[in-house]
Amino acid sequence: QPLGTAAPMTPKPTLGLSPTVSTEGKMNATFVTLARNSDLWEIVKSIRQVEDRFNRNYHYDWVFLNDKPFDSTFKKVTSALISGTTHYEEIPEEHWSYPDFIDQERARKVREEMAEKKIIYGDSVSYRHMCRFESGFFFRQPIMNKFEWYWRVEPSIELYCDIAYDPFKFMADNKKKYSFVLSLYEYVETIETLWDSTKTYMQKHPEHLVKGNAMKWLSDDDGESYNHCHFWSNFEIGNLNWLRSPAYIDFFEQLDKDGGFFYERWGDAPVHSIAAALTLKKEEIHFFNDIAYYHVPFTHCPTGDQFRLDHKCHCNPKDNFDWKGYSCTTRWFDLNKMAKPEGWEDEKN
Ligand code: GDP
Ligand code: MN
Repeated sequence: QPLGTAAPMTPKPTLGLSPTVSTEGKMNATFVTLARNSDLWEIVKSIRQVEDRFNRNYHYDWVFLNDKPFDSTFKKVTSALISGTTHYEEIPEEHWSYPDFIDQERARKVREEMAEKKIIYGDSVSYRHMCRFESGFFFRQPIMNKFEWYWRVEPSIELYCDIAYDPFKFMADNKKKYSFVLSLYEYVETIETLWDSTKTYMQKHPEHLVKGNAMKWLSDDDGESYNHCHFWSNFEIGNLNWLRSPAYIDFFEQLDKDGGFFYERWGDAPVHSIAAALTLKKEEIHFFNDIAYYHVPFTHCPTGDQFRLDHKCHCNPKDNFDWKGYSCTTRWFDLNKMAKPEGWEDEKN
């Protein structure tokens, strides 16, 4: 065929995205980001993508939290990019410091040992405060009491496809409480005794363990041991009332007392995941296949050529982590007897 005779490609309409916003059907929801002032030029990349792919049509609020006051540049630049109302809050000292029952000398020795073993963030004090804060306190900040739903966004993430509907509304309509896009095995060295604390919680609070939960996703021997599977918490859409419930708070309190945020390096991802898998019905946890996402070093790129074309995706399907050996998402599909999308086997390696 000679050049120039091919029919021009007709531009595709953007799926289901309405150019105008109505407050009708808008959920009581917010984005939430924990960040330092120095994270500004990385968080703006995330914001730009969240706005382009979704929020420009919805104008949801965005809450920023920091252990120090946000500076005026941070506020100016982020609020100019966000189509909803922005909030900037400083975290109280007691949510970002050692509880009095923590032996700080013991914690210091652990950091030295972990530094020698080259465990990622093993020597960091601030990373531990961050993980404890995300585990136990972000959802209890007064500003968060205004909201029922949250969507966590971190610096330097990517959203690869248009989001053609409101995920908050989807969660509410389908009785979901927690969600994920990527799952994987945790580094054992950072959570050596997390499951021991979990067992203490299970013994003390059998009333919080829900029938039909996702325990089988966490444990291959009925709760005797932990298989280290967790949902990656740098992306989360969830229900704040669940985090504020006695079931979740009792879990956090047990873990906090046992000291592993400082004597080990427990991450908020396994903490949220274990809580979700024990205190929610498995149907209340949702895998957002259609939210295409990257946080270094993993990608969730939805399997299925037509889906990616329809949603203007810009991820390489070869990078999709879902079906790789180190992902726990195959286990999630098997547990829930979900059919894997066509073509998944080609993305296994
Ligand atoms: P990683 O994803 O586990 O490598 O950890 P990040 O460095 O991305 O930190 C997780 C989240 O906490 C990000 O939203 C960071 O911006 C935020 N964060 C990490 N450390 C601090 C800190 O010391 N202060 C504040 N305010 N935010 C932090
Ligand atoms: Mn991160």
